[in-house]
Amino acid sequence: MDVVTALRALVAHRTIAAPVDEPTDREPFEALLATMREQFPQLHARCEVTRIAQDGLLIRWAGRSSEAPVVLMGHLDVVPINPDDHWTHPPFDGVEADGMLWGRGTLDCKGPVAALCAAVEDALADGFTPARDVWLSFGCNEEVSGGAAVEAVKALEVRGVRPWFVLDEGGAVVSEAFPGVEVPLALIGVGEKGYLDLDLTVTGEGGHSSMPTRNGATARLARAIVRLEEHPFSPHLTEATLEMFARIAPHASGPFAAVLSRARHLRGPLASALARMGAETAAMVRTTIAVTQLEASPARNVLAATAHASVNARVMPGETIATTVRRVRRTIGDRTVKVTVHSGSEPTELAPLDAAFDLLCEVTEVAIPDALPVPYLVMGTTDARHFQRRWPNVYRFNPLRYSPAQRQSLHNVDERVSVASLTEAVAWYRLLVERI
Ligand SMILES: [Zn+2]
Repeated sequence: MDVVTALRALVAHRTIAAPVDEPTDREPFEALLATMREQFPQLHARCEVTRIAQDGLLIRWAGRSSEAPVVLMGHLDVVPINPDDHWTHPPFDGVEADGMLWGRGTLDCKGPVAALCAAVEDALADGFTPARDVWLSFGCNEEVSGGAAVEAVKALEVRGVRPWFVLDEGGAVVSEAFPGVEVPLALIGVGEKGYLDLDLTVTGEGGHSSMPTRNGATARLARAIVRLEEHPFSPHLTEATLEMFARIAPHASGPFAAVLSRARHLRGPLASALARMGAETAAMVRTTIAVTQLEASPARNVLAATAHASVNARVMPGETIATTVRRVRRTIGDRTVKVTVHSGSEPTELAPLDAAFDLLCEVTEVAIPDALPVPYLVMGTTDARHFQRRWPNVYRFNPLRYSPAQRQSLHNVDERVSVASLTEAVAWYRLLVERI
């Protein structure tokens, strides 16, 4: 079947999930599910397809044995378009140009969903049955941290499913990720950082700005923010990152190669070097703190009675929300600055590098032979975290190639997938279901 046609049809639907507690426009989701029935008829006729959380899908493709099944995940919702952005091709038209298919969701995550479904559709048409059950779990509110994935976990538990492994989005085949590393890296996520929203609140006397008092609410809030900026969390390497470097080292050249090959002995200095190298590498090695929103006085000539900052932190595995909050309070060192947790989700454990991980590496070595598969820590949050709380073997990888420009296009303008890479992804999923 033609995966490009299928993806173009999926991209056309504006499946944007509303923030939790606000109503989602469900019409595009209904239309998308109808398109999926048209594009993947064998899959819908021969697998058990059920709805999850209204607009998500949980699909069972029965295998030849009762061996522990495999769960392959994705999501059907996409992030909205910024109305100020100018796209090279309209975001919902699915334009094919310059070897690329352009549009919102082509990478995140309709592209991978289309490639996976196309692989299943082709396998069914060829009369193939997998050795064990394969479950497809497609959420409908991943981008707003909705509950579809939690419901999918519950539904699988009710069915007595104890997966051998789970595979979701979160890693991809990337080029030019590190200096001196020419080989494209297939980043297979084995865990993800935690997510934490904090509120910093300072109260003051308020009053007329013609007679300001020293050390008012805004001054104390500003001091707290500067202290957080000047005292970042200390960097350290997770086991996943160390193992990633150990596997990259033989393929690296230049000064970085020598450091990578001795990563285990140079743990501390390497972590510090990565923290200094840039925002992307710094995020790999430390809990990050970002002050994102500020709010104070309602008028230019009024002293603030309350000053408020929103802080978004991404918590390293091995640390917790509680340890992060303690560290933030200690760094600010001012009891009049109230630090409270708005919401959060703990970092995950790291999945084992066992037979399931090896299988993902082997499939990659065959289907994307120029890429080097390595374990990786995912910086963002994915639906997979809900599965990893329940089952240990949860991995995050889409077999799509991302150039640095495509990495920038995620949740941004000009999201696009290479047509060649999409076809390669279909072959990757096909090989996976044949080898499980
Ligand atoms: Zn996504």
